Amino acid sequence: MSKSFLIDTTVCSGCRACQVACKQWHNLPAEDTKNVGSYQNPQDLSFDTYKLVRMNEAEIDGKLQWLFFPEQCRHCIDAPCEAAADYPAAIFTDTATGAVVYTANTRDVYEPEDVVGSCPYNVPRKAENGLMAKCDMCLDRVQNGLLPACVKVCPTGAMHFGDREEIVELARKRLQEVRTRFPQAMLIDPDEVRVIYLVAFEPKRYHDFAMASAGGGITRQMALRRMFRPVRKFGNRLLTG
Ligand code: SF4
Ligand code: SF4
Repeated sequence: MSKSFLIDTTVCSGCRACQVACKQWHNLPAEDTKNVGSYQNPQDLSFDTYKLVRMNEAEIDGKLQWLFFPEQCRHCIDAPCEAAADYPAAIFTDTATGAVVYTANTRDVYEPEDVVGSCPYNVPRKAENGLMAKCDMCLDRVQNGLLPACVKVCPTGAMHFGDREEIVELARKRLQEVRTRFPQAMLIDPDEVRVIYLVAFEPKRYHDFAMASAGGGITRQMALRRMFRPVRKFGNRLLTG
């Protein structure tokens, strides 16, 4: 049975324990950061930062609101990035959990910008050597009966993980509860993704790519490029050995 997350932003305190736990479990290095006058740190996802708590302040209906959005790959049910990758096993969906996983073969993807451009949530990041990276659902932990590191450490109950049916049911139940306080509350793209966010306000207030952007998915240009890739790719391989 596939897995899913519920991230209930209405009880997120912005503590960033999930961000740190992700770094620790994946042994990812810290990054140089700058104070830019807000609590946002670092400024964006990167090859070394798979989980990032986005922080915004907004005046909504005359009240100041802190809007925290613990961002990560959504593990799409029909992942556009997997469809855009053009090298065997560069990106695969684990059938047991639904985790969308990037492998060392992402270095050989012929058009890495297609993978990046296909993601409606602007998640994949590329290193200088061509490798791409993002959240892997802590697949090694999950396969051994453990929670993803970010879920395990969350002190407020904002992060949930479990069998998809149970998580979808929990998400719908929480939405009804939250709507008594926040009438505009909604679940973001719950039928398309395995990481379901519950937000109190319009998703764009949290982050430009909180909700699937119209620009995501496989474009006609990408599809045309892919038609010619096998010849070019394996032709190059023969030439380079
Ligand atoms: S959110 Fe983006 S990177 Fe993650 S599975 Fe979906 S398309 Fe791929
Ligand atoms: S650990 Fe939980 S409360 Fe803290 S930032 Fe992450 S989701 Fe929010």
